[in-house]
Amino acid sequence: RSGFVAIVGRPNVGKSTLMNYMVGQKVAITADKPQTTRNRIHGVVTHEGNQIIFMDTPGIHKPKHRLGEHMVKVAVQTLREVEAVLFLVDATMPKGAGDEYIIEILKNVKDTPIYLVINKIDLIEKEKLLEIITSYKDEFPFAEIIPISAVAGDNVERLRDLLLNLL
Ligand code: GDP
Ligand code: MG
Repeated sequence: RSGFVAIVGRPNVGKSTLMNYMVGQKVAITADKPQTTRNRIHGVVTHEGNQIIFMDTPGIHKPKHRLGEHMVKVAVQTLREVEAVLFLVDATMPKGAGDEYIIEILKNVKDTPIYLVINKIDLIEKEKLLEIITSYKDEFPFAEIIPISAVAGDNVERLRDLLLNLL
């Protein structure tokens, strides 16, 4: 089995760190394909013969002009076609305009399970985590909320297995 998973989130939330932790093998073909392509493949997780192909969706940033709006449409279309979307947020930062903007985009994505992944839990107290969860969970019907530490690897295996079960 194999399938595509898109990781979205504002800069510095830990998208690259999470992929690097999970991915055993970088995909060579992405090297010569710049941001102008529809999506960017970042790596492949192979586990017991199954594959999760991670991709980035470059259209998810605030549109400044028409091209931006078009990019958003393309991104939404991409997110509709993948097996799952991981929306990564930073547990050390309050929900900001960048996160709200992504949630608005995600509201246009139908039929794809969207997981809220709260990263950097190694840096916060338990009570803080509950606050973060509360601030997000009424905004969107997330398939599940998964707190992780991409640096320490906390819960990353659970996240991987959850994704493998969707394939
Ligand atoms: P991206 O912009 O979303 O790809 O974010 P990066 O993966 O580049 O991470 C941004 C910064 O956050 C880097 O300095 C990472 O080392 C740090 N970081 C990422 N995940 C974690 C985590 O789980 N815990 C801690 N403490 N730092 C993290
Ligand atoms: Mg990155």
